[in-house]
Amino acid sequence: MTKLAGTKTWADRWGVTGDSGTEYVVSRKDDGSWACSCPAWKFHKAPRPNCKHIDRLLLELAGFERQPTVVQPTVVRPQIAPPRAPVAQQHIPVINLGAMAELARLRVRKFREA
Ligand SMILES: [Zn+2]
Repeated sequence: MTKLAGTKTWADRWGVTGDSGTEYVVSRKDDGSWACSCPAWKFHKAPRPNCKHIDRLLLELAGFERQPTVVQPTVVRPQIAPPRAPVAQQHIPVINLGAMAELARLRVRKFREA
């Protein structure tokens, strides 16, 4: 956003770049009312809610810089090992039901062979 020179009607004016890259002028009157030059605001019936440019400017004026989009970490689900999974996979620090079943099966077999 860029601070612009005020006018008689509009005490404070800022240039705010919209998502499409178009710059809109957000203005504030002395009485505290806001206006924006974007079509969404201009063509909205009164009482007009703040458009996203006004909201963005208010947030920035309040000291909240626009945060970059946070990339959510991908949730990795533990894989249930197939029934024939090698025993070496048992160190995986998740409850590996397939491997546990395999281990139990091997133990039973060992017991029977003993
Ligand atoms: Zn707007």
